[in-house]
Amino acid sequence: MHENASHPVRHPAGAADSGRTGHRHYSIRATRSLPGPDPPVLRARHSGGVIDRSPDAASVERLADGAYGYVQPDGSWFINNCGFVDADGHAVLIDTCATERRTRALLAAVGDTSGPVTTLVNTHHHGDHTNGNYLVAGAAVIGHRKTRETMLAEGIQRYEGVLVGNDWGRLELRVPDVVFDDTLTVYAGPTRIDLIHPGHAAHTTNDVLAWLPEQRVLYAGDLVFNGGSPFALMGSVAGWRDALNVLRELDPAVILPGHGPACGLERVDVVDAYLEFVQRTAETGKAAGRSPLEQAKATDLGRFAELSEQERLVGNLHRAYAELGGAECGASLDLVAAMTDMLAWNGGPVRCFS
Ligand SMILES: [Zn+2]
Repeated sequence: MHENASHPVRHPAGAADSGRTGHRHYSIRATRSLPGPDPPVLRARHSGGVIDRSPDAASVERLADGAYGYVQPDGSWFINNCGFVDADGHAVLIDTCATERRTRALLAAVGDTSGPVTTLVNTHHHGDHTNGNYLVAGAAVIGHRKTRETMLAEGIQRYEGVLVGNDWGRLELRVPDVVFDDTLTVYAGPTRIDLIHPGHAAHTTNDVLAWLPEQRVLYAGDLVFNGGSPFALMGSVAGWRDALNVLRELDPAVILPGHGPACGLERVDVVDAYLEFVQRTAETGKAAGRSPLEQAKATDLGRFAELSEQERLVGNLHRAYAELGGAECGASLDLVAAMTDMLAWNGGPVRCFS
């Protein structure tokens, strides 16, 4: 079912109809309600290729009545998905984008589909999901207690010299005003949204699932990557695998991942299999006396070579090595050393397209 017939065509930038930037065309696509297995997503690593990763390539995708995904191809570094739910003339938004330009385009699309955003939920602290918070003027921002704490401690991270190519625009730190530890229920008009922290670190220390129990729609944040390599450096490999059981128990009809196309539980199995592979690879490397970087260089990714952002293996091995050494789930570790090794594996800074 397509719902785009009544949406206005935006005028080119510079037209006098609006003070907003990010004028663009977009369409609403209905996703299948019961997704089957997705074909593997094959992407050239770091290539500038033929894929349209521009903000104009984003689309609003209907997941259920009143529940939408804002899907940004190609889901690589700092190109995330957001969600939003109709709330009787306004909207509950789930996550913002990495850059000013992308977030302005997101807000224009949400405004035209559902109305102004009055409530914003962050799925975790990473900048590709929170940098645009400040542009959602007037909305209450909800997040996990550690999302607020981490954002206040780290500020806005631009990862200069590590990740290059992002067109950040103007950014301001805007942290959650309303925080919770375990669960919180938010209503979007009549639609119930359960916010669920899995109980421990997974992708980060502060992941939040947004679950619509009546529609069986799950906004998974970065607990699910569809097409990209999962990245556990700032969370926990073991904890993430445990957290995937929370997703399975919800039994969603459709999942909006943090990156990549909407999917079903079959992609949760891919994330789990990749993380198990990371654990096994770490065991092998540690037994052989190799460093995480040496072990990454010695590793054949096998079936996981089809996932993009392969350099994440190095960071993931740093986390898995720490856990083999007895580190607690989500314990702090030397992120600079891990990032330095990722660059060494990659042969230089990682190219981004956000
Ligand atoms: Zn993330």
